[in-house]
Amino acid sequence: MRQIEAFPAGGDSGAAAARPEESRWGDVFDPSTGQVQARVAFSTLADLDRAVARAAAAQPAWAATNPQRRARVMFRFRELLEANMQALAELLASEHGKVVADARGDVLRGLEVIEFSCGIPHALKGEYTQGAGPGIDVYAMRQPLGVVAGITPFNFPAMIPMWMFGPAIAAGNAFILKPSERDPSVPVRLAELMREAGLPEGILQVVHGDKQMVDAILDHPGIAAVSFVGSSDIAHYVYSRGVAAGKRVQAMGGAKNHGIVMPDADLDQVVNDLTGAAFGSAGERCMALPIVVPVGEATADALRERLIPAMAALKVGVSSDPDAHYGPVVNAAHKARVEDWIQTGVDEGAELVVDGRGLVLQGHEQGFFVGPTLFDRVTTDMRAYREEIFGPVLQIVRAPDFESALRLPSDHQYGNGVAIFTRNGHAAREFAQRVNVGMVGINVPIPVPVAYHTFGGWKRSGFGDTNQYGMEGVRFWTKVKTVTQRWPDGGAGDNAFLIPTA
Ligand code: NAD
Repeated sequence: MRQIEAFPAGGDSGAAAARPEESRWGDVFDPSTGQVQARVAFSTLADLDRAVARAAAAQPAWAATNPQRRARVMFRFRELLEANMQALAELLASEHGKVVADARGDVLRGLEVIEFSCGIPHALKGEYTQGAGPGIDVYAMRQPLGVVAGITPFNFPAMIPMWMFGPAIAAGNAFILKPSERDPSVPVRLAELMREAGLPEGILQVVHGDKQMVDAILDHPGIAAVSFVGSSDIAHYVYSRGVAAGKRVQAMGGAKNHGIVMPDADLDQVVNDLTGAAFGSAGERCMALPIVVPVGEATADALRERLIPAMAALKVGVSSDPDAHYGPVVNAAHKARVEDWIQTGVDEGAELVVDGRGLVLQGHEQGFFVGPTLFDRVTTDMRAYREEIFGPVLQIVRAPDFESALRLPSDHQYGNGVAIFTRNGHAAREFAQRVNVGMVGINVPIPVPVAYHTFGGWKRSGFGDTNQYGMEGVRFWTKVKTVTQRWPDGGAGDNAFLIPTA
């Protein structure tokens, strides 16, 4: 069976074959067939120590390399991503379960952050004040943090690692990546390609594992900062433990994004956008739209009437099927969890309009498929409304007017993304201004900001105060040093016993 190793494989202790008998492993499935296709070798605490030591040894020279040269590695890496796009997408799809075209999008959205990182010389330019006092100039520079780490979820195994290591490495840090143990192959490939692009040894390493490895990273005194993306309870835990250990931490969590549909919206467009945003990638996106809020009963009825045939036309297939709209969920446990949530919705009194449970694909009977599911008359007291399901389940929550629609996402525990569909500019502007959510789409169902803006949710969707990528990312991965300088022209001044003021 294929074995997935850390990067560099075996650390400096040599080949994978030398792993001790008691080593821990994780199964990596092909969600389309339901079979284990590989096993991933969990790194040990000694492996992590070695990786940190290697990173610490390599980082000063990398930080001292001028930013243009660091950027050139990013340029070359970008070319290698392009050249390997199809292979990366197929590998990703085979472990995650999303369809190959969608897996290309996963790689591409990461590539865009690499493109942003190619501009790091500009992004790192400091600030300067001439004449802040008599003969005094003040300047500020951004310096890398040293050895940093990223812990990533299964659902975007290419994009999210690149959100993190792109700006972190371009800014002069050495980066240790702990990807999800469910689909770890693409992250390892990315590290290999970075090396091929000319990145010095030790600047990007991959360790594998589960909670044990996460805890070791959080407690490691040699790691200065941790970026985490995953579910909210774990994000909160990672944030608290990392900060208690004196690290800089940003931790993005789960989501339950709402799409508000105003009575004047173009419903055909909305249905088109909604089916993609609710069911694409089997709903396993933190920016999916699992809740739709039609404003007014007439809007709700018309929307529901259009949604049912649109859902019936969706094709669920294996991840390599070019005609499939979406593939299986990531593993059997997650399939069971999604189906349990559907039952919870039924038990809580929501109206199950389309039931996606029990979907079996001929020839792939063991695959982890869940059909598109629709609930109507979902209410805010239901657990199935309050919690993240992370599957192909769309819930209709009817709202009588704009104000009550606005309150739903604003009062929800999660605050990642939200969308409003309307032709009314005033309503859209008012909504964007007042909604208590971090990323807003106006007639855009999945408002993931472009790479030179920044990504981050509010409330339980994000712990810490800086976002991923864009200038916020550069700020997270660097610290500011401020220099106040004076070049006296001879002659001793007065003794200064008082604090200087300008
Ligand atoms: P997860 O929280 O299970 O795992 C994320 C990472 O944490 C993995 O690397 C995993 O190995 C590690 N981990 C798992 N259990 C742990 C524990 N008990 N202690 C410490 N670490 C642990 O998340 P997932 O299922 O891989 O990903 C899906 C979740 O991620 C969803 O909740 C989704 O909304 C969220 N997500 C959020 C964003 C965002 O930017 N806000 C983006 C993508 C995904």
